[in-house]
Amino acid sequence: MPPSASPDPHPLNQPSHQPAMQIDHVSRHYVMGESAIRAVDDVSLSIPTGQFLALLGSSGSGKSTLLNLMAGLDRPTSGAIFSAGRNLAELSPLELARYRRNTVGMVFQSFNLLPRMTLEENVELPLRLAEVDRSERGARVQEALERVRLAQRTGHRPSELSGGEQQRTAIARALVNRPKILFADEPTGNLDSATGEAILTLLREIQSTMGMTIVMVTHERHLAEKFADRLATMGDGKLLSTTATEVHATNHAALHATTSGNRGAGQ
Ligand code: ADP
Ligand code: MG
Repeated sequence: MPPSASPDPHPLNQPSHQPAMQIDHVSRHYVMGESAIRAVDDVSLSIPTGQFLALLGSSGSGKSTLLNLMAGLDRPTSGAIFSAGRNLAELSPLELARYRRNTVGMVFQSFNLLPRMTLEENVELPLRLAEVDRSERGARVQEALERVRLAQRTGHRPSELSGGEQQRTAIARALVNRPKILFADEPTGNLDSATGEAILTLLREIQSTMGMTIVMVTHERHLAEKFADRLATMGDGKLLSTTATEVHATNHAALHATTSGNRGAGQ
């Protein structure tokens, strides 16, 4: 299906028609001595609420840099990044820290769990940082661990878990503050292919049950095509193309069959 300029009806989502992320002419340049590296070079992209977007591209094409900009871990050299209507480039350091803590969740290739802490303590950490009341934390941790089906393993330490279980713990930790957007940078990069598929099945489930917007960097195109709604391909810091996947078309067809019978072709 060719990229389309028509608006996405995204009927699975909340009534809000505001995109989850709106990236307008964003660049991130690194100055290295005499030369500048255009890690992200004039990228514009709109991500509808509730979409599962996969960011593809070869190594060094700027995927992580763009993801980090969207997650508020870094600031653009130029351009604007709107999250639910707020321009991240204009937030104070304190506001940006709050955005990272409350609005977004982040999952990494290497899980980044704290080895001396139990699963429960790892997942609880963001709640402590957000100063959620102690009396509320237990239930929230339990809920997050149930979502990734690890509620029976709360007392274990990361080293006692498989890679897939560690990544599920990291996903629970990313969800515990009930973020609006989940960012994942090569979440299956350290996993075998069956475990990787299981992680993506879980992400897809989180998207549909929680109405979560997900932006995932991957270089595994076949997984992206199987699980994401839309693929955005980067090359040399630029956005080369965006295309809707068949997963997305199927979801829309099913939904339209039960509502209006009108098969929209948006991406
Ligand atoms: P990808 O995730 O697609 O592999 P990155 O976003 O990590 O790519 O990097 C894009 C480009 O920016 C690469 O050329 C990389 O070397 C460069 N880059 C990334 N981070 C930095 C940095 N902190 N300082 C200088 N150059 C960087
Ligand atoms: Mg990267």
